[in-house]
Amino acid sequence: MSRKRKGIILFFGIGLMSLFFFCFYVKIEKNGTIEVMKQMDKIQEGTKIAITFDDGPHPYYTEQLLDGLKERDVKATFFVTGEHAQLHPDIIERMNEEGHLIGNHTYSHLQLSKSNRQEYKEQLIKTNEIITEITGKEVLFVRPPYGTWDKTLEKDLNMFPVLWTVDPLDWCSDNVACIKKKIMSEVGENDIILMHDSYASTVTAALQVIDELQEQGYEFVTVDEILFD
Ligand SMILES: [Zn+2]
Repeated sequence: MSRKRKGIILFFGIGLMSLFFFCFYVKIEKNGTIEVMKQMDKIQEGTKIAITFDDGPHPYYTEQLLDGLKERDVKATFFVTGEHAQLHPDIIERMNEEGHLIGNHTYSHLQLSKSNRQEYKEQLIKTNEIITEITGKEVLFVRPPYGTWDKTLEKDLNMFPVLWTVDPLDWCSDNVACIKKKIMSEVGENDIILMHDSYASTVTAALQVIDELQEQGYEFVTVDEILFD
């Protein structure tokens, strides 16, 4: 082989090896950057968030939701109506046994007004009694339907109102992607998410949101842990 040919082979050989090492280096760098970005996306481990479900229990969707929560070891808060609790005491019992917090959402989903204060109060008391009879626990939290509340009721009944900070309006859309997007774009530390366990789309969206937020490092807790810790 002539010296010239040897020179050409050596030249291309070194060139190819350099190219190989350059690509390898870029790949490592790129992966490293992605890893750093992933780390930045994570929030501090154990950051709290609460997911709440109103208007139930529903005979089918609530059970489906409870199965999903159990699989993920998530504790939620359920604000049930007395009417529905009376119809499905077995589901209330299951919620309680599986560590969820049960709150009051009036007996018949009554909105407080100037003219029905007494009836409203009676509905809260009646619903507390229904829940306590099933769980053996005192009911301390109330989610007032439509968010209408009167502060003087807190002293009268020794109950705390629990509103919400993230409302995806899941009751007016069956579009899982939309419900999920709304929550994910707003949610953060110590937020209280409002949902309704009476729809298939809510159950699917809630479980998907939980998976994503758990992946980010959030811990799901019942509302008392957000309000009093
Ligand atoms: Zn409601």
